[in-house]
Amino acid sequence: MKPIHIDSTYGVVIHRDFTPLFVDEKYAQLFGFESAQEVMALSSLFDIIDPKYHQIAQQAYIDVMQGKELPKVRSYVNQDIHGRIFSVLTVDHVIEWEGNLALQITVIDMSMIDQANQQILEQEQKYKDLIWNSLQGILVHRDFKPLMVNPAFVDLIKAKSVAEVMALNSFMCIIPEYNHENARNIYQKLISKEIRSTNEIVENICFDGQTRYFQLFESVIDWGGLPAIQTSIIDVTEKYHLERQIEYQASHDDLTGLFNRRAITEKLNQKIINNDTCSEICLLIDIDDFKWINDQFGHASGDEVIVRFANLCKKTVGESGIVGRWGGEEFIIFLSNHSLQQAKTIAATILKKCELEIYQFSGHNYIVTVSIGISQCEATSCNIESLIQTADKNMYQAKQQGKNQIVSPKTKGLIN
Ligand code: GH3
Ligand code: MG
Ligand code: MG
Repeated sequence: MKPIHIDSTYGVVIHRDFTPLFVDEKYAQLFGFESAQEVMALSSLFDIIDPKYHQIAQQAYIDVMQGKELPKVRSYVNQDIHGRIFSVLTVDHVIEWEGNLALQITVIDMSMIDQANQQILEQEQKYKDLIWNSLQGILVHRDFKPLMVNPAFVDLIKAKSVAEVMALNSFMCIIPEYNHENARNIYQKLISKEIRSTNEIVENICFDGQTRYFQLFESVIDWGGLPAIQTSIIDVTEKYHLERQIEYQASHDDLTGLFNRRAITEKLNQKIINNDTCSEICLLIDIDDFKWINDQFGHASGDEVIVRFANLCKKTVGESGIVGRWGGEEFIIFLSNHSLQQAKTIAATILKKCELEIYQFSGHNYIVTVSIGISQCEATSCNIESLIQTADKNMYQAKQQGKNQIVSPKTKGLIN
């Protein structure tokens, strides 16, 4: 087939009963002819009109020429003499040609638009293929109703098939209840273009009922001429658990499971940032003669004392404060919104419970005592360092005064 180059967007033909009276070069080119003369040589324009349009064209000609129908814009799909299919818009004009009426038709080539539409369709198909074959899970949705889902997404959320996911009226069912409102807010922000995309780690309840964590990327795309959300997911469950484990290890003491010194300091600073009035009370506790236990019964026995004492503190304090391991055999407790008297009662309970905690080392029963220093924040300002320093000073004083006792700020003396 001879390649043709169309540099015009419209051509003109004038005919009477389909016998060509005038043809311009552009019209000729549109239909694949070398020149206008070639078209003029045709006995009838029907030769270049698809037979399936002959009757319509004939009727239209009669109606327009007789004034039954007003000249108008029509659309046809044509084929040129080389077989190229192209669509056209035609505009009729009844004119006078050499003393008689004739029909002038302006033919506008719509091929470029067809090609552009075709390209869009091809690009859409390529895009859909890309999504379909992606190893990343991809879901396209509008208002949480799935419009498209790829096999990788189906696998990741442990669904049985694409059809099973597509059958969902809303995939909110895989989002935990606590995150529904947030999910809707983000959807609105994306659709309204308030934000362009999101990238977050989310928890989902998969089709097998298991909770998994996904890195979620969301952005707005055009889907069938309307905005929709493209959601891409990667399973990061293992990474998520590993990070939580690392976070836990970084903030907890291995031996006792209590908060470590770093976590305690961070937590307190955070509390102070969030609260302008501070009502913290600090208890610093040191096990008495601990070195002796280590020396007499070995390190493992020392460890047992540390673990059991840590549990004793945790149980006693419960939800009313934070318990941490401050150092070797030193523990720290922070109580919020407690009176000094309440704090002293808690400290006294710890001393009492120590007396009831029996250790068996080398076939003999032992109890372990502790010394406790208490300090309290100033009502208007709270300095964590000085709070701990004061508790430490009071604890040291308790040691000096004979151990197994509490020294608190007001009393500055023995209270048990
Ligand atoms: P005091 O009554 O004055 O507090 O005397 P103490 O013996 O309790 O105090 P000291 O600071 O001399 O001894 C603390 C010992 O605790 C020293 C250290 O070897 C031991 N220690 C620190 N951490 C651990 C641990 O995790 N396990 C064991 N078993 N011992 C530890
Ligand atoms: Mg010590
Ligand atoms: Mg000690």
